[in-house]
Amino acid sequence: MNPSIPAAVGCDGGFAALGLVDSLLRAVADLGYVQPTPVQLAAIPPALARDADGADLMVSSQTGSGKTAAYLLPVLDALCRQVAAEPVRESRRSSRGPGRAPRFEPAAPQALVLCPTRELAQQVAHDAVDLLRHTRGVRVATVVGGMPYAVQLQRLAGAAVVVATPGRLLDLHRGGHLRLDTVQHVVLDEADRMLDLGFAEDLAEIHRLTEGRRQTLMFSATFAPRIQALAARIMRAPQRVALETPQDRHTHIEQRLYWCDSPSHKRRVLDHWLRDEAIEQAIVFASTQIECDELAQDLQQAGFAAVALHGALSQGLRNRRLQALRQGQVQILVATDVAARGIDVPSITHVFNYGLPMKAEDYVHRIGRTGRAGRRGLAVTMAEPRDRRRIGAIEAFSRQPIPALTIPGLEPQRPIDTPRQARRADGHRGWGKRSEAPRARRAEPAARRAPR
Ligand code: AMP
Repeated sequence: MNPSIPAAVGCDGGFAALGLVDSLLRAVADLGYVQPTPVQLAAIPPALARDADGADLMVSSQTGSGKTAAYLLPVLDALCRQVAAEPVRESRRSSRGPGRAPRFEPAAPQALVLCPTRELAQQVAHDAVDLLRHTRGVRVATVVGGMPYAVQLQRLAGAAVVVATPGRLLDLHRGGHLRLDTVQHVVLDEADRMLDLGFAEDLAEIHRLTEGRRQTLMFSATFAPRIQALAARIMRAPQRVALETPQDRHTHIEQRLYWCDSPSHKRRVLDHWLRDEAIEQAIVFASTQIECDELAQDLQQAGFAAVALHGALSQGLRNRRLQALRQGQVQILVATDVAARGIDVPSITHVFNYGLPMKAEDYVHRIGRTGRAGRRGLAVTMAEPRDRRRIGAIEAFSRQPIPALTIPGLEPQRPIDTPRQARRADGHRGWGKRSEAPRARRAEPAARRAPR
């Protein structure tokens, strides 16, 4: 239950007013959702519009806003109504009667949710199963790389909803295990990320294979030109639902920046922060898989319940580690960007950017792992002088400076301002020592600043 998630204004009827089927309303109530969130209120009615099979929608929204239910509810509503009208899909597996080997039939889902990463796909499938707890005859399967084929095929049989990463989905289709021409609803979650990860061609192929579909819903952090170009290729006159802009995101996440002189200085700042008693659970982001493994090992040796999570680990191990995080057995997850995308664990109170992300957008996704479901969170970034440009790019993308602070006894020898911080410091003094004399310091080139 997430009572603190912002409720939609002017929706006194709660979810019932949206006209969802009863079994979904009961599930939503079980999950403790009382009012639709703004993105749900904006996206569900047009996506449901039954007279026109539901509109195609492009929705910009951040993780943590309730976007998953915003697309799952209308899609599941359509499937629930279909099953109520003609209970068709269950148990193709036993189509030849007891005692006989089942005749092979490829799976024939009606809804497809595409996600950039395995973790996000598993999270979405988990949410779909939760929402279907009072529905019979609509099954969900996950199709992601790294899982044994046999297990996946078994789960696929008779599934109406398939939540997949694009590559593995196409593998199964090419192997004749899965039909895609039965798909009526396609959802692209985190479409921007899918393009980043090089899935453009896979998406084009899936579009072609599902051309007879009735509806496409696309969720993305931004409507960048490449997202609009993708929409133009695969959607029919989509309606736009724009709720968030980069600069008004994450207002409930406090962001801090610590300049460090060297990798060892960065490590000391991290060690200092990991002793913060306010940490319930934390994610430490590393730049590389090697850094991730080494840091997790170091932290274990220092007595922390820490594990690494990155793309080179087997899917089984990744799942077990994520489960341990969800169950609170792991306190600190040391992760790379891809592995941590989509993690939704409300007790993550802190995110540490120990290694900086390659792309400014990834910073926004990283810090969104804390402050889930309306809670407050803290995002701490450690950067070296050589990272100045990257910090500048992050500030430009999110259109806000990250306040730079210092820790007594761990101050950098050469404090650095990004152009944005320098401008901000001019107007607002009060971000720690740096703002005490911003004009004088900015007049000097960074390299010649006197050590403090
Ligand atoms: P998402 O943006 O889909 O990752 O959702 C973030 C969190 O909000 C998840 O933990 C959901 O279970 C929760 N959530 C989604 N919709 C609602 C709602 N209407 N009321 C309360 N919590 C919600």
